[in-house]
Amino acid sequence: MIFLFVVMSKSLVIASGNVHKVEEFGSLLNGLGFDILSAKVCGGMPHVVEDGNTFAANSKIKADALRELVASDQWVLADDSGLEVDALGGAPGIYSARYAGPDASDEANRVKLLKELSAVPTGQRTARFQCVLCLIDPDGHTSYFEGSCEGQITTEALGEMGFGYDPVFVPTGYEETFAQLGDEVKSQLSHRAKAVENLRARFV
Ligand code: IMP
Repeated sequence: MIFLFVVMSKSLVIASGNVHKVEEFGSLLNGLGFDILSAKVCGGMPHVVEDGNTFAANSKIKADALRELVASDQWVLADDSGLEVDALGGAPGIYSARYAGPDASDEANRVKLLKELSAVPTGQRTARFQCVLCLIDPDGHTSYFEGSCEGQITTEALGEMGFGYDPVFVPTGYEETFAQLGDEVKSQLSHRAKAVENLRARFV
């Protein structure tokens, strides 16, 4: 007798057009039974105005916008993240991507950050990356998962890997920046990895 097992996989659309981010989520969410899809499957991530006051509010804005476009049986996942520097009262925070201006490059943002911190001594350059994930299931239930990664801001940019503020961020317990340490170390420690760990716990 032949038994036919049909495993129904759930489909999860990531609210990003960034191939790197979709791949990163694909590997972080591995084994949960989701088919991970990019927003390209429904015509691309729609333009949204991220005018929320928190990472959670901005992640919800992105997730809601994508949910309008996906099929009724699909899940949606959006993230919002940034860097909080204690000596700057939590800035750049939700403005991390546009700290040096509306279309600022990563390098311009880093230069501005180092300039703002030029008078701040080592030991007072504490900071953290924050990430909030917003997950919406096919019934419309919304859940949030957070992750953070503590560290220090350097006095100069060091390292070639990664993106954003990676060359100026040394995670606690390490001597090198994320841009020097590379993806393998970062994927164990990062704010995104920790937020996904919290999400994974919801499914086990
Ligand atoms: P988004 O949530 O992907 O839009 O990221 C917002 C901004 O935060 C990025 O443009 C980066 O400047 C910064 N950022 C977020 N995560 C990271 C990270 O892992 N490394 C470096 N910079 C990051």
